[in-house]
Amino acid sequence: MSWLTEIARPEIRALRAYEHAVWEPGLIRLHANELPWRAGADRSLAGLNRYPEPHPHELTAALAGLYGVGSDMLLASRGSDEAIDLLVRSYCRAGQDAVLLCPPTFGMYAVAARIQGAAPVEVPLLRARGFALDDAAVRERCSAQVKLVFLCSPNNPTGNRLDSAAILGLARDLEGRALVVVDEAYVEFAAAASLTARLHDHPGLVILRTLSKAHGLAGARCGALLAQPDVIALLRKVIQPYAVTQPSIEAVFQALEPAALAQARERVATLLAERARLAAALRARRGVVTVWPSDANFLLVEFEDAGAALQRAHQAGLLLRDLRAAPQLTRALRISVGSPEQNDRLLASLS
Ligand SMILES: *Cc1c(COP(=O)(O)O)cnc(C)c1O
Repeated sequence: MSWLTEIARPEIRALRAYEHAVWEPGLIRLHANELPWRAGADRSLAGLNRYPEPHPHELTAALAGLYGVGSDMLLASRGSDEAIDLLVRSYCRAGQDAVLLCPPTFGMYAVAARIQGAAPVEVPLLRARGFALDDAAVRERCSAQVKLVFLCSPNNPTGNRLDSAAILGLARDLEGRALVVVDEAYVEFAAAASLTARLHDHPGLVILRTLSKAHGLAGARCGALLAQPDVIALLRKVIQPYAVTQPSIEAVFQALEPAALAQARERVATLLAERARLAAALRARRGVVTVWPSDANFLLVEFEDAGAALQRAHQAGLLLRDLRAAPQLTRALRISVGSPEQNDRLLASLS
């Protein structure tokens, strides 16, 4: 047994996965208590009267192709949110283990930890250095209880990438003790490549990808966790069978058609141009204090009076994310880059 399995919860190591109905698509299914007829409005390819494949091999293979790993190194999940939850539930014993996270960051890491009864250990990003990772402090705070280190790069909500050498150095140093989970939900919008290619020489590295952002499928709820086969095998015991629904599977296959992938790349390019235009225009607005550099599809913007900006945008029919309650961000709003028309409307509302 490798250390990747040994540091997991003993109950999960010992768990025998649920034995779902066998999957033999050529045969008539009288073994799963499904209705033999489709519902009247069912326009799906496979028929929603049927359970989807329990661990979807074709979807897994397609996503593995997209992200450039072997199928045994990928777990398809109901969004990255589910992947985060699976990691915490599989690796952290309630009341004993901990996760480390670097605020300000994505809120789900701490929520998943609290639900599981694992303590969130916080090592703040360094605002004075552009919200850089404090890897020395992470090392120092990584007690034996810490099983997972969540790093988000590009980070939500600050928009910056974390230093790859620092991330990989942590993965190395924590080998045998903790997994380093890099959430790359926004990597398609970044000026640097994914760390996926480094999975092979950094066994403790776990990478989260999602179709929710650059591929425009937030409503389909499909994400992917990339890791060593031992980690995937462990999490597969815990994930619900049929986690990704049939309509989602079909939507993902459509999104992976060459024409759809080309359109997604084009839209990312449009979005990056809009990001630059919006950032420059906001910097010129009176009342805007800082527009932080962004490697994602949103901007972190600090205002002299963030409340007033929020209100004016709202009056123009625009919702912005209020971050004023977060430490280090007391004057900040997070603004998703919209279509050119939406961005114009935002700029008009703030002038
Ligand atoms: C949006 C986002 C995700 C995506 O979550 P899904 O569940 O895949 O939609 C993951 N991580 C971060 C940091 C995000 O901002």
